[in-house]
Amino acid sequence: MEKMQVEKTASRGIAVAPVYYYQEPDLIPETGTVGEAQVSAEAEKFENAKNEVMAELAALAEKSEIFAAHQEIAGDFMLQEGVLAKIRDDKKNVQQALDETIQEIAAIFASMDDAYMKERAADVKDVGKRLMASLKGVRLPDLGNMDKESIVAARDLYPSDTVKMNPEFVKGILTEEGGVTSHVSIMAKSMNIPILVGVRGILGKLSDGVLVCMDAEKGTIAIEPDEDTKNAYLEKKAAYEKEREMLVKLRNQPAVTADGKRIYLCANVGNVEDIRNALPMMIDGIGLFRSEFLYMENTHFPTEEEQFEVYSEAAKLCPQELTIRTLDIGGDKELSYFQFEKEENPFLGWRAIRISLEMKDMFKEQLRAILRASAFGHVRIMFPMIISLVELREAKAVVEECKAELRAEGTVFDENIEVGMMIETPASVLLADEFAKEADFFSIGTNDLTQYLLAVDRGNKKISDRYDFMNPAVLKAIRQVIEAGHKEGIKVGMCGEMAGSQEAVPVLLDMGLDEFSMSAGSIDYVRKLVLEN
Ligand code: PEP
Ligand code: MG
Repeated sequence: MEKMQVEKTASRGIAVAPVYYYQEPDLIPETGTVGEAQVSAEAEKFENAKNEVMAELAALAEKSEIFAAHQEIAGDFMLQEGVLAKIRDDKKNVQQALDETIQEIAAIFASMDDAYMKERAADVKDVGKRLMASLKGVRLPDLGNMDKESIVAARDLYPSDTVKMNPEFVKGILTEEGGVTSHVSIMAKSMNIPILVGVRGILGKLSDGVLVCMDAEKGTIAIEPDEDTKNAYLEKKAAYEKEREMLVKLRNQPAVTADGKRIYLCANVGNVEDIRNALPMMIDGIGLFRSEFLYMENTHFPTEEEQFEVYSEAAKLCPQELTIRTLDIGGDKELSYFQFEKEENPFLGWRAIRISLEMKDMFKEQLRAILRASAFGHVRIMFPMIISLVELREAKAVVEECKAELRAEGTVFDENIEVGMMIETPASVLLADEFAKEADFFSIGTNDLTQYLLAVDRGNKKISDRYDFMNPAVLKAIRQVIEAGHKEGIKVGMCGEMAGSQEAVPVLLDMGLDEFSMSAGSIDYVRKLVLEN
């Protein structure tokens, strides 16, 4: 048995389960030529790999239509002929023939003018990866394919990995890299999965199937525990579950402080499923719908219609406020179908509202979808990463343009839809008094605000001790924003992870914060704190 004590993550929960070792295998093709005598054997290897991949994709296609599209690619004549010609005519071995053919087809798609066709390049590469894995006889990890309870151990997980996770099987997460406010931490918390990140050296100590105990709240890990240790963890797990039962009983009480102020407790979500999971916590609404996950889970920029379907379903599900944040892509969030230019400092680069204002047609599709959904509930629009009044006005003008179009088309929407903004840049703090005159509400995004105010990368483990939302500079900024908002009579909320922190909540209540929006897993704890303060 080996015990480890690591940094805590503000996540809670205890897990005892075998490890699912998540590692991308080596898919670099073996290069080389073959003699005439081996041509048919190489061609047969390709045929076998194709059949294996087609069967794999057929099973996956039942879960998502993305894989039906991948099936078509795998069975495509151009791919088949490309590989076979390179084996037959150029005498290349099958791995090199496949690699070159995939690169060629992906390049053809990438060079097309039509945006939809351009996006197919990523799908072609994805299918190429599957075929190469089959040729090499290695297993491609896919968190969506897990079928037994496990603790996932990985170097790091990206949002595109975590969106596939099924909480029924993922009982805990351990990563070597990553920080507390990296998106994997946020997503794990919203799914109530205990997580410990930045656990240096953990991968070297683990292998597939090894039994591990972890306590996310205390930051402890036991690898291959002895019977006593394992039982101690199982006992703590039972006690934790009992405490949760007590918290569940408090859900029927509205969150009112001792001096009578009604506090709004809302959830942060990334999709409709998250809303369903949050509703039992008796939430007062959705304070942050991270719309980028809808873009990230797709193979193309989702159309107005596709988005409308999701937002309207969300609005019908959640009759209270539903705050949809417009696309916040860039930074550490990428799209498989859109090539971002490499940037020196992605968090200071082309992200969020900067992209939306530049890609106006795409922005309008999203805004029209949100506006149309507003006919079905209390929908609010929120812009991320605003740094100037010019930006806010420009974004609001696009909303007005969309409203005018919908009016002319006779499409119903909420004429009085509230349009607010995130306060997550130092500039927006300093200009909060002016923004408060033009925005309908504020939501403080402390995940980014902390990194930008303190000049500390939110995902960099090496300096994570400096990433502290309780730093007086951050607290002073928050107080200033709440005062500025209240002076103009607008509601001030917070949707950064700080809103769910036991340490921060009493301080924020004291400052007069109106709304706390957080991962669903924290709501019960925050309700208890509000009732006690
Ligand atoms: C934030 O920055 O606090 C926030 C809520 O946005 P995200 O974590 O998605 O960047
Ligand atoms: Mg942010």
